[in-house]
Amino acid sequence: MSRQVTTMSEMKVLKSAEWPHTTVKVKHHVIGDGRVTVIAGPCAVEDEETLWSTAVQVKKAGAHLLRGGAYKPRTSPYSFQGLGRTGLELLASVGRATGLPVVTEVMDTADVEEVACYADILQVGARNMHNYALLKRLGRIDKPVVLKRGLSATIEEWLMAAEYIVSAGNRQVILCERGIRTYEPWTRNTLDLSAVALLKTVTHLPVIVDPSHATGKAELVGPMAKAAVAAGADGLMVEVHVDPARALSDGEQSLSPDQFAYLMQEIGTLTSIRQRRVS
Ligand code: PEP
Ligand code: MN
Repeated sequence: MSRQVTTMSEMKVLKSAEWPHTTVKVKHHVIGDGRVTVIAGPCAVEDEETLWSTAVQVKKAGAHLLRGGAYKPRTSPYSFQGLGRTGLELLASVGRATGLPVVTEVMDTADVEEVACYADILQVGARNMHNYALLKRLGRIDKPVVLKRGLSATIEEWLMAAEYIVSAGNRQVILCERGIRTYEPWTRNTLDLSAVALLKTVTHLPVIVDPSHATGKAELVGPMAKAAVAAGADGLMVEVHVDPARALSDGEQSLSPDQFAYLMQEIGTLTSIRQRRVS
């Protein structure tokens, strides 16, 4: 047996007799109990009105949680970087008013305490999946963490990143497949749905899919969201904006509220087929 296999056998994120299945409770919602959790909202928190009207509409369409970035990892330092603390305050207050738990990214170890005060779930973005200091710090909080797959991370590297959080004491980890970088430039990333099906066989952690960052194109979000549900994903994270053409970030991959509502109906149909198969 190689050293690597020995390491794997010690991993806490793998299914075992002690830990066959993890569910993550956030407010009144449970992630990973067989139903499909939908997290929706804008790429970034831009202003109160935009966030509020997006939140009200995604909730009406059936979303369970609200997303919105306050600290944004932008490729260019000249792009909108997010509202920081103000964004966190807006997100938390809109979440409270709509009754939607909120998910937001934390980029820096120094911000973990602050972000944890406002967020119901903290997100580690793809660019930070290998930030071990951040992962260790998140292992010491009592809030769930969505761990996105790194831009070019293997499944094992991704699971090891989850292991950092779990082994430091926080068992509430949700894996999020958001596409990986391949040679294909016509989509923003390449959605690896086989990773979802594979992870369901090896790890007890919930696995969700982000079809927005995976494709970069609004017209591909619906097909990939449905494929993710068919592949067994525990949930979806979808970018929705009241006016995608005017979004300060990722407008080209954001659904309008009407498009999102239509997708939710389709997801509902697929989910009922999936539940029939399970029962
Ligand atoms: C995001 O969810 O806003 C985001 C930046 O995603 P990723 O880290 O997957 O690129
Ligand atoms: Mn985005």
